[in-house]
Amino acid sequence: MRVPFLDLNAHHVPIRAELDAAIREVIDCGAFSGGRYVERFEEAFAKFCGASFAVGVGNGTDALWFTLLALGVGPGDEVITTPMTFMATAEAISYCGAKPVFVDIEEETYTMNPALLEQAITSRTKVIIPVHLFGQMADMDAILEIAKRHDLFVVEDACQAHGAEYKEGKAGSLGIAGCFSFYPGKNLGALGEAGGIVTSSEELKRTVQVLRDHGQDRKYHHSRIGWNGRMDGIQGAVLGVKLRRLSEANFARRTNAATYDKLLASAKQVIIPRVGKDRLHVYHVYAVRIQDRDGTLKRLSDRGIGCGVHYPVPVHLQPAYAFLGHRIGDFPVSEACGREFLSLPMFPELQPTQIEIVAQELREVTDL
Ligand SMILES: *Cc1c(COP(=O)(O)O)cnc(C)c1O
Repeated sequence: MRVPFLDLNAHHVPIRAELDAAIREVIDCGAFSGGRYVERFEEAFAKFCGASFAVGVGNGTDALWFTLLALGVGPGDEVITTPMTFMATAEAISYCGAKPVFVDIEEETYTMNPALLEQAITSRTKVIIPVHLFGQMADMDAILEIAKRHDLFVVEDACQAHGAEYKEGKAGSLGIAGCFSFYPGKNLGALGEAGGIVTSSEELKRTVQVLRDHGQDRKYHHSRIGWNGRMDGIQGAVLGVKLRRLSEANFARRTNAATYDKLLASAKQVIIPRVGKDRLHVYHVYAVRIQDRDGTLKRLSDRGIGCGVHYPVPVHLQPAYAFLGHRIGDFPVSEACGREFLSLPMFPELQPTQIEIVAQELREVTDL
């Protein structure tokens, strides 16, 4: 039996009538770009995250870029993040004219290692971007404490962590801002491209609102050079429908992860994900580590199991960033993870029988 890596259809079938009605409403009233459906979603999402405001934008990359611009990041500045992330985190830094500076991840949680953070800070550092990789938040207390001591902003890359928690705080609510992607495959996904910024700073909210709309304070009056980064009305309406099911969907992901954990606990070749202290993981990705990752991936796909690799090449070793002059060995944990990470099928609707098949096949192919 085949098991897909992701099945968005299974997610959409039960809510199809509601999605159709929401889209019809937008078409009927013509609020296509920004407008009332985006505003309604912004209000609901801010509340969900425990922040005062949310600002809908075109995608998660826009969310990161506009937030950094609004914080005044520009040429000559440095922004610290991890190399084990999606390229967009670094791109947003580069598109401000600033330099990405990397800090390796922890072995346990695959998020920024606070013990290595301080040595990466220079007089040019402006912002720290911890990435809540795979749905687990970084060690925010330690990172926020260091940031405070050095008078730096913390912006959370929460693009994979909608609804994740650290102690009492939700992802996106602990830094000056949290940036989210609503790409279709994320825990909260649109039917197309969308993203959002949450913050409790009224000033920051206002600045990103101006930036996403061509730098306009009011129509055709431009106080700064902005961009077109507005959210579609249809995506706002769709996200409103899906947000109501996010907690339930995240619960299902955790249940699925617990089933994998149990079935794989005794598989010697497989390192299962670990959850850090005080964290609630929302398993955007269920990634295991395996020495012979590429061989395992091939054998699993031959058996009809859909897997992924997030991410095979850490950002500091990407050709696009060759000019930074990094070499193999600079960030050893990220590099080892890049060789060993294997993402197994994970979505809320994944069935226990499917998980059993994946675990069974994985045990077989790794025992060869
Ligand atoms: C998805 C993602 C982004 C970018 O979001 P887009 O909506 O695709 O632009 C940024 N950072 C991380 C960690 C992501 O997973």
